[in-house]
Amino acid sequence: MKPLIPAEAIDYIRSNAKRGSVVCITGAGVSAPSGIPTFRGKGGLWEKYRPQIYATTMGLISTFMTEPEKIVDFLNDLYSILVKAKPNPCHRALAEMEKEGIVSALITQNIDGLHQQAGSRSVIELHGNAYRVRCMNCLKAITWEKDRIREMIKLLNLSRQSRPQLLRVLSRYFPKCECGGRYRIDIVLFGEVLPQDALKEAYRALDTCSLLMLVGTSLAVYPAAALPAYAKQRGAKIVEINSEPSDSPCDLRIQGDAAVIMPQLAEAL
Ligand code: NAD
Repeated sequence: MKPLIPAEAIDYIRSNAKRGSVVCITGAGVSAPSGIPTFRGKGGLWEKYRPQIYATTMGLISTFMTEPEKIVDFLNDLYSILVKAKPNPCHRALAEMEKEGIVSALITQNIDGLHQQAGSRSVIELHGNAYRVRCMNCLKAITWEKDRIREMIKLLNLSRQSRPQLLRVLSRYFPKCECGGRYRIDIVLFGEVLPQDALKEAYRALDTCSLLMLVGTSLAVYPAAALPAYAKQRGAKIVEINSEPSDSPCDLRIQGDAAVIMPQLAEAL
């Protein structure tokens, strides 16, 4: 069978990986083979739900006040996709590369927790995690098991005809913290500031990186989109793995499915 990655590309990646450390930035494309469509792509969440409403605090609050059942539909659709998804060969290859000491940090824009499920430990989550709730006041975080999410969705669906009942269910799953603040899902909505600790950690990882791999991301969203230029200024080479042709400024582009390319790369390095 014809190799998918040209030998020169493997040599290029290998020699740059040896100069220092390898960092990866991953995006929605990495989880697409796990059955989570990219939000923007065909069949993605934003086809059915307008991000101006469902990905902003104001939009979510005002929709909840007027049509709470729409919020239930949205949570239903979001979490029914997420809880079913399992790590794919790309997630597993990245975890393997970390174990082998090849990848030193994995910066992800994904909120699905699949890198950790695959065994990656050095995961920097720029946009939060859908399995975590965080107090809006003191920032204390609590991680949810999948069963808790299934249970919440079930109760929300049962309560959709009654607003007081819906509110009771929501307050049970997003309770008041002991500090007086309220918990919410720990994902970064449009217009919100990224978790500063994660962003600092990402920049720190890029300070010493000799090779940056961009895997399954359009990098259309800032400030994550600014990270490759930062790494490049510090001497890193940039390799992109994406299923679509792109015009991102990288040194080497490998076009293909991340779930096929990354296991090959893991084996070759
Ligand atoms: P994006 O939708 O802007 O870009 C996805 C990129 O992945 C595209 O360039 C596409 O060509 C590529 N791609 C799709 N399938 C691929 C595959 N099998 N192999 C390789 N490449 C593939 O996604 P983004 O850049 O991550 O930014 C979108 C934002 O939406 C992020 O902030 C993220 O938090 C959020 N999001 C997260 C998830 C998730 O957690 N799984 C899913 C959808 C969106």
